Amino acid sequence: MRLTAYLLSNFKQVKRMAPANVSDVEKKLHGVGLAPLDAGKLVIEKNPNPRSPPPAKGLVFGKTFSNHMLTVPWNAQTGWGQPKIGAYGPFSFDPSTVIFHYAPSLFEGLKAYRDPQGEVRLFRPDKNMERMNTSADRIALPRFDGDELVKLIKKLVDMDKDWVPFEAGYSLYIRPTLIGTQPTLGVSANEEALLFVILSPVGPYYSSGVKPVALEANPARVRAWPGGTGASKLGANYGPGILPQIEAAKQGFQQNLWLFGDEHWLTEVGTMNLFIVMKKNDQTLEVVTPPLDGMILAGVTRDSVLGLLRAHSSGEAPLAGLPKIEVSERNINMKEIVDAAEKCNLVEVFGSGTAAVVSPVNKIGYLGEDISIPVGDSGFGAVAESVLNKLSAIQWGKEEHPWSVRITE
Ligand SMILES: *Cc1c(COP(=O)(O)O)cnc(C)c1O
Repeated sequence: MRLTAYLLSNFKQVKRMAPANVSDVEKKLHGVGLAPLDAGKLVIEKNPNPRSPPPAKGLVFGKTFSNHMLTVPWNAQTGWGQPKIGAYGPFSFDPSTVIFHYAPSLFEGLKAYRDPQGEVRLFRPDKNMERMNTSADRIALPRFDGDELVKLIKKLVDMDKDWVPFEAGYSLYIRPTLIGTQPTLGVSANEEALLFVILSPVGPYYSSGVKPVALEANPARVRAWPGGTGASKLGANYGPGILPQIEAAKQGFQQNLWLFGDEHWLTEVGTMNLFIVMKKNDQTLEVVTPPLDGMILAGVTRDSVLGLLRAHSSGEAPLAGLPKIEVSERNINMKEIVDAAEKCNLVEVFGSGTAAVVSPVNKIGYLGEDISIPVGDSGFGAVAESVLNKLSAIQWGKEEHPWSVRITE
């Protein structure tokens, strides 16, 4: 069966099985009759021993954290509790707490950027909130009002705004997380939860120059499957990806190209969405990304890249230096990649995600053969480079765009 047909039948089956009414457990998780998340209830306890941000140079991703963090507790009896911004520091949980055993955990990743006026901006935080709620639904953690969490995140970033680096290409990584916290070994819907947000200054992804990555496409390792959790940013999706990465590294590859099914459909690359650029004819390129079929994480960067490419195709906002482009969200398998490479029609492959924006690929190892992918002198293909320049200009506020919002707005 073709993948689309298979997924469609799977989806219909799930729909047919869904109960007509929402259960009491779901009502609680959706906040019916419980206190909503309310930024107006925020209490602030300033860190009595604040540190100065370290020099930006030498920052290693995810190792340095700012002075404050946000926490908001939830329980199934009363709903969302009082949001608190306090000193960054460890939690204390009973060893039986469900997070340590069954991984009810989800996370988000976005960044705060310093614009040319010295003001701090976020990039499409509403999209992260939307996705966080989708992830919460999948792992039976509570939903919340995304606008309220954005207000709290803006307040937190504002308090630690001296941690948003001024150096070009640096930013402050924001990590919202939601975990189940009831102390029980029982496997059941979450009755207690903790939402928290921490901040980490990060350096430019390409600090030591652009390094295109080589991918291993090993059909024996699978990241996500129909009916699974691949479309949600659950903590439990990421631990199992480490071993395949170690295996790929042993063969000389930096990342995994995740395949699915007997026909080796392409899904994602590492923890990024996947873009493939192919020559359609002498005038036109086709840019393909796999569709959001339940196995693919709906990246904010993916959506932004698609938006920019579609605005280019329609002539509404042409991207510098690019020819005519046809944008396709469709399934693509390794046979099509191998064919395109043989006919010299494989123009570019790149990943997309918040950390790097785009990450160019120069090689795919597949069934013992290496498929070479051209990268320009800059290390990027033309499409990846043009999209990177445009998105960076928007994110750092060098170009006004509704996607970029000031934390004081
Ligand atoms: C986070 C993530 C992405 C990228 O999402 P962005 O919102 O663009 O950062 C892509 N794939 C996976 C599996 C991810 O976890």
